[in-house]
Amino acid sequence: MAKYMKPLCKVCRKYGIKLYLKGKRCESDKCAVDPRRKKIRLIKPKKLSEYGMQLREKNKVKIYYGVLERQFRRYFEIAKKHKGVTGEVLLQLLERRLDNVIYRANWVYSRRMAKQLINHGHILVNGRKNDRPGYLVEVGDIIQLKPTSKCVKIVKECIEDYKSRPIPSFMKVDKENLKIEILRYPTRDEVSIPVDEQLIVNFYSK
Ligand code: SF4
Repeated sequence: MAKYMKPLCKVCRKYGIKLYLKGKRCESDKCAVDPRRKKIRLIKPKKLSEYGMQLREKNKVKIYYGVLERQFRRYFEIAKKHKGVTGEVLLQLLERRLDNVIYRANWVYSRRMAKQLINHGHILVNGRKNDRPGYLVEVGDIIQLKPTSKCVKIVKECIEDYKSRPIPSFMKVDKENLKIEILRYPTRDEVSIPVDEQLIVNFYSK
């Protein structure tokens, strides 16, 4: 599992946006970059070269999805070979990660928590245990929380806490039976982080 060792809120302050790295706190006004706060203390950005801007954009997306450099590079290589706009395909691949799908279905407070749930064998994909957070979901996949899992209560609490947070329409979530169905692949406008993906493509295309 990708670990980021710096204080998490400092990372958001550096990028000037919410990266949702700390779970419940990220939705509250205790969040360091929450617009409801009177004073948001951002870390003053340095003047960056073009390369610096590309590197910054790439790292921002990596941290947001919690993936390591090697994995991220692998996604880029897949995206490059794929039909379509490389940057958009890259983001689409990241959105299709199993940990992201569980997070966006509002079953957990953060992608880190989603990774834990998956690593500990609480998630079934098409009826079989899947302990790979980086599994890329396919259209028609059915994702379930193991009915005997000790985490049923926690997941239901999270669904209740996040009931007003929208769920992207590429998935259908059955809150009662704790099931997610993938209806189609995510589109670029369903990616919730503000990012200029072309900078990432330029970074890797050197
Ligand atoms: Fe911290 Fe807010 Fe970033 Fe969450 S979104 S890690 S609370 S600064």
